[in-house]
Amino acid sequence: MHELSLLENVREILENHALQQNFSKVIKVTLEIGKLSCVEPDALRFGFDVVMKDSLAENAELIITELNGLGLCRQCQQHIEMETLYDPCSYCDSPFVTLIQGTEMKIKDLIVS
Ligand SMILES: [Zn+2]
Repeated sequence: MHELSLLENVREILENHALQQNFSKVIKVTLEIGKLSCVEPDALRFGFDVVMKDSLAENAELIITELNGLGLCRQCQQHIEMETLYDPCSYCDSPFVTLIQGTEMKIKDLIVS
């Protein structure tokens, strides 16, 4: 389950932020997850408490915001919604679509004390 290693990354990022910005406790974490990132939000929720135990984010609240897949057609320049990484353009059927949103996984917001 690669969600656990992702969460370990998140914990490391939080610990680094804590050192730089001088806080000692995380109250709430908002993660932004692209729907095409192959990350299961339920698995993140499930693993969060385990990974954050005994860290500065123990008992922190986890909020997950999901982002739709979004592509830009290089043929007709339309923005299209994408269900998979390889969807053709829904306007002109061109296969040349540049993915502009949907694979990210990042910390969007942090409430600390
Ligand atoms: Zn198109």
